[in-house]
Amino acid sequence: MRVAIVGAGPAGFYAAGHLLKSGAQVDLFDMLPTPFGLVRAGVAPDHPNIKAVTRVFDKTAAQDGFRFFGNVEIGTAIRPAELAGHYDAVLYAIGAATDRHMSIPGENLPGSHPATDFVAWYNGHPDYSEHQFDLSGERVAVIGNGNVAIDVARMLVLSDEEHGVTDVADHALEAFRASNIREVLIIGRRGPAQAAFTNPEVLELGELAGADVEVDSEQAALDPLSRHWLEEFGDKTHRVNVETLAAYAARPATGAPRTIRLRFLSSPVAIHGEDRVEAIEVERNEIVEHDGRLAASGTGETETIPVDLVFRSIGYRGVRLEGLPFDDARGVVPNVGGRVIGDDGETAAGLYVAGWIKRGPSGVIGTNKQDGVQTAKALIEDHEAGLLPAPSAGDDALQALLAERCPDVISFAGWQAIDEAERAAGEPQGRPRVKLVTREALNGAARGVSR
Ligand code: NAP
Repeated sequence: MRVAIVGAGPAGFYAAGHLLKSGAQVDLFDMLPTPFGLVRAGVAPDHPNIKAVTRVFDKTAAQDGFRFFGNVEIGTAIRPAELAGHYDAVLYAIGAATDRHMSIPGENLPGSHPATDFVAWYNGHPDYSEHQFDLSGERVAVIGNGNVAIDVARMLVLSDEEHGVTDVADHALEAFRASNIREVLIIGRRGPAQAAFTNPEVLELGELAGADVEVDSEQAALDPLSRHWLEEFGDKTHRVNVETLAAYAARPATGAPRTIRLRFLSSPVAIHGEDRVEAIEVERNEIVEHDGRLAASGTGETETIPVDLVFRSIGYRGVRLEGLPFDDARGVVPNVGGRVIGDDGETAAGLYVAGWIKRGPSGVIGTNKQDGVQTAKALIEDHEAGLLPAPSAGDDALQALLAERCPDVISFAGWQAIDEAERAAGEPQGRPRVKLVTREALNGAARGVSR
């Protein structure tokens, strides 16, 4: 069986690993010259242990039957229907490429950015390396209570020494070193008990070398509904988050040069400014029960807080890939257990999804392991049941198509050459790597071994 996987992030790699074990041949495509998706372009630079998961993916890539094709954009260079003709099955693990919108006035003022852009920029994603973020102001608002909001806040307050041992992109390292930012305000629309943070990320905020963390003691004490909910239904994540945030509320400031301030029960209603962001207006919320869940309800009381920069960190969103079914409301490809459901409501034979494009942008890397394996198992089952359409063209035709449409295609050996060049550049600086941040530089490093 020959399977194409589109998207070389964790979900794609985990699915590939399982398919290879079953004896399938797997071709893994990515639009970038580099593999690993959000492990390279999303995971914060100061979290090297999380990035170590790429060792598992390296083992997958070393197996017989595996090939990587970087710099190949399915949907533009090669249409999904064309790709499908060359394989028994195609599995899309293309993630969630954009951000959710808030739909409030001033959202698009200069100085108001999707956190997803900032994350891609500091991680050296080649399509974001030319972006500009003005860190000359003193106060930043980060909207949202998820782990991305924490990552962004932490990156903004890390000391030069803390940044200096990471693989943060050089353009970002320079900008962070010159930054004037003193205060990062993380704004959550609900309370500490409903935050989407995970425990290690909240704990880490209290251990930063150059930043205090502040929480309002009244908010940390929880409203009666949240307190009751936490006792009855809260899991360890919620409980430890609430305890940790309460401990921060009780902790005196140390006079560190920077502060992360967590403000809960506040919904941004407008971003103000003449030509760029000058302030954010928030409405105070209270927690109410709505349809069996605790929701934020506006009190009508507003406050305008001067800020110089805003990062909107309210979640990623999947993007439609032309030629594939798409559920616009949820931002995912409709599917049952990874089997794609076509516009006619029937299972689309030979078409599968895994990861965030399958279930939405939630969960950590490990979540995508189970998810990728679940889809791979469904695919193998369908193969064994004789349900996959026979390919109409073989590998020669695929190679000819790639040669015609994707002259810069990069193999796994090409990626290994990039990897080696980046690590060699990092070594003298005591950093894991210095990332190459343009497609030209990445292609240049891969050239010679790219086919
Ligand atoms: P997320 O966990 O879904 O958090 C989104 C946050 O935005 C929630 O607090 C949500 O509040 C809030 N929000 C949504 N709409 C809003 C609105 N209109 N106004 C104000 N707030 C709004 O998303 P994420 O932070 O982008 O993370 C995505 C996934 O990647 C998560 O599963 C996360 O754990 C994972 N991740 C993990 C790590 C790590 O392991 N270190 C790092 C980064 C990301 P409500 O709850 O009220 O909707």
